[in-house]
Amino acid sequence: MSPIAQSAKDDKVEAVMPGVSSDRVERILTTTLIVAAVGGVLAFNILSHIADTNRRAQISIERIVGLTFKMRSITSDSLAKGGLTGGARKRLAAFEEQAQTQIDVLDHSGASADDVSTITRCYEASRAAIVTVTDALAKRNIAKASYIDSTKLAQCLVTLNSTSLAITSSMERNADVAYGIALIGSGIIIAITMPILVILFRRFESRRHESLLLANERRSLRQNEARFHSLVANATDIILILDRFGLIQYASPATDKVLGIPSASLTGTRVYTIIHHDDVSHARNIMDQSAGSPSVNVTAEMRLLHQNGSWRHAEIVLINQLGQPEVGGIIATMRDITERKEFEEQLTHHAFHDSLTGLPNRALFLDRLSLGLSRTARHEHAVGVMFIDLDNFKVVNDSLGHQAGDRMLLEVADRIKSCLRPDDTLARLGGDEFTVLLENASGTIPQMVAERIVRVLEEPIYVEGQACFTSASIGIALSGNSDDIPQFLLRDADTAMYEAKTSGKGRYSIFHRSMSAKAAERLEFEGELRKAVDRNEVVVFYQPIVSMLDERIVGLESLMRWKHPIRGMLPPGKFIPIAEETGTIISLGQFVLVEACRQLREWQEMFPSDPRLKMSINLSPRQFQHPEIVDDVRTAIRRFGLNPADIKLEITESVTFADTENTVRKLEQLKQIGVQLAIDDFCTGYSSMSYLKSFPIDTIKIDRSFVSRLGDEVEDDAIVKAIITLAKTMRLDITGEGIETHEQMRRLQALGCDHGQGYLFSKPGSATEITELIKSRSMSDHLVELRAA
Ligand code: C2E
Ligand code: MG
Ligand code: MG
Repeated sequence: MSPIAQSAKDDKVEAVMPGVSSDRVERILTTTLIVAAVGGVLAFNILSHIADTNRRAQISIERIVGLTFKMRSITSDSLAKGGLTGGARKRLAAFEEQAQTQIDVLDHSGASADDVSTITRCYEASRAAIVTVTDALAKRNIAKASYIDSTKLAQCLVTLNSTSLAITSSMERNADVAYGIALIGSGIIIAITMPILVILFRRFESRRHESLLLANERRSLRQNEARFHSLVANATDIILILDRFGLIQYASPATDKVLGIPSASLTGTRVYTIIHHDDVSHARNIMDQSAGSPSVNVTAEMRLLHQNGSWRHAEIVLINQLGQPEVGGIIATMRDITERKEFEEQLTHHAFHDSLTGLPNRALFLDRLSLGLSRTARHEHAVGVMFIDLDNFKVVNDSLGHQAGDRMLLEVADRIKSCLRPDDTLARLGGDEFTVLLENASGTIPQMVAERIVRVLEEPIYVEGQACFTSASIGIALSGNSDDIPQFLLRDADTAMYEAKTSGKGRYSIFHRSMSAKAAERLEFEGELRKAVDRNEVVVFYQPIVSMLDERIVGLESLMRWKHPIRGMLPPGKFIPIAEETGTIISLGQFVLVEACRQLREWQEMFPSDPRLKMSINLSPRQFQHPEIVDDVRTAIRRFGLNPADIKLEITESVTFADTENTVRKLEQLKQIGVQLAIDDFCTGYSSMSYLKSFPIDTIKIDRSFVSRLGDEVEDDAIVKAIITLAKTMRLDITGEGIETHEQMRRLQALGCDHGQGYLFSKPGSATEITELIKSRSMSDHLVELRAA
């Protein structure tokens, strides 16, 4: 029974019997019950014995009387018959014997000695009278016998009868009294014992119930205890009980799992020994706080020392149980949140860093810039922002693939970092754009750093064994204006970077207010270019390609022009780089493709020849990479019912400089349409003779830069000769570009060049002009006209 239940019970007893405990009452009741029961049984036995004795004596007396009367009736019969027969004598003897037996029984029945002797005397008197009668009869003295029978014997029998009646009725009364007393006594005992029994039974039942409850209570207490131990033993959280001063009084087994320290070795030490030294003062504060506020949760996060020397992050909850005698300390629950912390750190890192290079991203850069600017306000020197953009990264990325591009960016990041001071911040904004925060941009520091970066990025970068060349255009913006705002500084550096790019790339430029206007102008230009096709401002010019044998026009190259409403006719050099950068080249190129096909069909019908006139169409790197280019070319050719072999696609070397799977696949897809493929501006980019073998190329076009110097320098002659010889062995068609003089033409003819293109034959002209040109039958006539002009 629980102590509470027991005390409640005692309270009740106390209320009924002041000063007597419940156990004592029970003892009194039990004793009473036993005494009553034993006394009752004894009394009952005695009384019933008395009653039985009386009954037995009574029966014996009645039998004695009965036997006596039976003996008299024998004598009476014998008197009547006038003699005693032998049978009568025997019966008399038998009755006498029985009577004597009954007298013995009566003697031992427990009846009073007076009664026994009275009855015996009366019987003996009667028997004596009967003997006298029988003797007289035996002597045939009938008169005497009759006389004694009617006097003495009758008198004796009356006495015997009356005496026996008196004694037996007294005995019956005695027996009844004894029975009555026994019954009443039993009733009284039952009346006394029954309530006691009921009380005792109830008490027994309640005891039994209480002991069951107690057993259950103990069991659940043991279970709870076992559960608690199991919880504490298997908990992943550390549970410590500390004294007011941080001394560990108890440490749960989780210390082993979480910190690699057995709990036993922690007990008796100070908790501060496992707390990071930077967190100790905070730990002391929260201990003080907890000690001052009982039963209030005090929480904190801290680093705990692991056995292996590493630090684990823990969430700590302190509960002051100093006032609880069972605990008598501050309970510290420590949950290992290292993984969560690391995850949070990862997320934070992810939010502020570029995933490829691990460098700060725009958000973090702006944050650092903002801090840098606030420091500037305190110090003398300015901070500088550099905006670095790689000049031809797109080409590398598109041709070598993204993985190679990524590797190149990592190398670029490393090289830029090598030019900076530890204080400076290098960030990647995305793509090939990097920014640098120069913490100290005083004097010529920004220029020196920029020059260093330009220099280190000019060195070739080897990706997959391939030397890739890149350069960087850098814009610099310096703080020092009253309205220094991080975003504005970054924007100004971007503007300066664009200035560096447009003025030749591979250089740096420092921001000046005048550049803002230029940047706005460029934005406007880009917008106009996007709308150029829709506004019918794009026109296609054509330049003839002639046979070097007889100068006959065998084909034409389509060359795009932009008829700008204000700036007039713009050559491709003025807008194609921007179109390429912004993606507008896709719609421009699609327009030229369709228009050139349509025009070829018109000319082929107008000037039937054998072989038919051909059309060369330029594809920029971005057009070539576009997923729909193959379909676009096929559709345009079908639309105008052209023979695919009459279309020649000119691809610049920058596209094909590496033998990547994609390039080969794309070239083969185009080739499957049936078109011809030409490498434009051969030997100006990442020239490699090796790819000529693996690519399905039909023509190479020797760049004007070589042709223009033909005859001037022996070396150039040798290069062109080598190219032509190689191409010849591979059965490739060779076209010389930019032929302006007869000398150049003659040299190319001598070297075995198949076709030529240049001002010597015709400048690019509108479709109408070229129609007129082809009309004139002989090329030589046209030459004469040119010379005359
Ligand atoms: P390209 O494909 O190499 O075209 C030849 C360029 O050389 C043309 O310049 C042409 O006018 C010029 N040219 C031809 N003969 C002579 C000559 O004797 N002397 C000199 N000084 N120049 C000569 P253009 O039209 O300015 O085109 C420049 C480049 O723009 C083209 O070089 C081509 O790469 C690109 N381009 C032109 N039209 C298109 C086009 O429709 N799509 C694409 N993607 N690119 C085009
Ligand atoms: Mg071309
Ligand atoms: Mg060319």
